[in-house]
Amino acid sequence: MHAFTYARMSTPSDTVRALAAGGPGTRLIAGGTTLYDLMKLNIETPKSVIDVTGLAELAQFDTSGERELVFGALAHMSDVAADARLVQEYPALAESLQKAASQQLRNMATLGGNLLQRTRCAYFRGGEPFACNKRAPGSGCSAIGGLDRGHAVLGGSDACIAVYPGDWAVALVAFDAEVDVLGPAGERTIKVDELHRAPGATPDIETVLAPNELILRIRVPATPLGRASTYHKIRDRESYAFALASAAVAVRLDDGIVREARVALGGVATRPWRARSAETVLVGGPLTEETARAAGAAAFADAVAGRYNGYKIELGTRTVADALLIAGERAGVR
Ligand SMILES: Cc1cc2nc3c(=O)[nH]c(=O)nc-3n(C[C@H](O)[C@H](O)[C@H](O)COP(=O)(O)OP(=O)(O)OC[C@H]3O[C@@H](n4cnc5c(N)ncnc54)[C@H](O)[C@@H]3O)c2cc1C
Ligand code: SF4
Repeated sequence: MHAFTYARMSTPSDTVRALAAGGPGTRLIAGGTTLYDLMKLNIETPKSVIDVTGLAELAQFDTSGERELVFGALAHMSDVAADARLVQEYPALAESLQKAASQQLRNMATLGGNLLQRTRCAYFRGGEPFACNKRAPGSGCSAIGGLDRGHAVLGGSDACIAVYPGDWAVALVAFDAEVDVLGPAGERTIKVDELHRAPGATPDIETVLAPNELILRIRVPATPLGRASTYHKIRDRESYAFALASAAVAVRLDDGIVREARVALGGVATRPWRARSAETVLVGGPLTEETARAAGAAAFADAVAGRYNGYKIELGTRTVADALLIAGERAGVR
C-alpha cells in the first residue's frame, strides 16, 4: 500500500487552498467509488487525499427553479435520481442516474464525482504489462487492434479509443448544462459539453479543469423539452453495467412537426457526445420510425469501427431511434 495523507475540508475556499498547497499528486475525494477503486489497483497513487464530503452547502439540490435546476456537486446520485420533479419533468436526467451503477454505489457516489469518473478500459485498469497512453503517456495503446469490443467508434485518436463511461454527463450535454468551478483565481463556468476533452495525442488529460479546481455545482436550464425526454441505455445485462450504447434525447413537437430536438450519445464515444447532425435531421418533419432511424444513422455517420466494436454503429443507430420513439410517445405522438 502507498502511504498518503488525508485531510477533511469544510469550505470550498479551504479546499482550493489545500489543492494548491498540495501540488501534483493531490486528489479530491467525494464518494470514493472511483478514486479508492483505482487506488486499490495502484492506478492512482496520490500522495494526499482531500475529503470534500464535509462541504455541506454543495450537497443540496433544487429542481424547483423556473429558470434553472441547480445540483450541488456533492449531492448523492440516489437522492437526485428519486427527486419527484426530476422524474416527472426531466425523465432523461433522472433515468441517467437511475440506470447507473448499483443502488449501493448511487448511495455513496456524488454528481461531481460521477462527471469525473475515469475510463473502464481493461488495459487502463490492468496496469503493467499493458501499454496505455492514458495511464503511462507515450507507452502506446493496447486496445487499438486489440480487444476493443467496448471501445469508442466516435472521437477516438491514434493514441486512445477509450469510451467515456458515465451516463449523467450524457444527459446533461443534451440539456446544455453548465458546471461552476472554483479555483485560486475565483469561480468560472464551463459547459458540460466542453468539460471533457477528446483524447487527441494526450489522452491522459481528460478534462479542461485545472488540477486545483473544485466543481461546485451543475446548472441545467429549465426547459419544457424535459418532459418529452428519455435516457435509453443498452448494456450486456439489465442492471449494474456500463452502456454499450446509450442515448439521451428530448423533443418538442407542434402540430405533429418536430420543432426542437436534442440527441446525445453515451457508451460509443470518447467523451459525452452531442449528435447535432441527428437533431438537424429531425427538426421540421414528423417523428416517425423512418425519421428516427435516419436521425440515428446521422449520429453515426462519422463512426469508425475497430476490430470487434463495429456492432456499436448499428446498435447505437437503433438506440437513438428507439429513444426518439419513447420521447415521442411522451410528447403525445402515437
Ligand atoms: C462497479 C461499478 C459500476 C459502475 N457503473 C456505472 C454506470 O453504469 N454508470 C455511471 O455513470 N457510473 C458508473 N459507475 C461509476 C460511479 O457512478 C462513479 O464511481 C461515481 O459516480 C463517482 O462518484 P464519487 O463521488 O464516488 O467520486 P470519487 O471517487 O470520490 O471521485 C471521482 C473523481 O472525481 C474527483 N472529484 C470528486 N468530486 C469532485 C469535485 N466536486 N470537484 C472536482 N473533482 C472532484 C475526484 O478527485 C476523483 O478524481 C460505476 C462504478 C463502479 C465501481
Ligand atoms: S484505449 Fe485509452 S485507456 Fe485504453 S489502453 Fe488505449 S490508451 Fe489506454
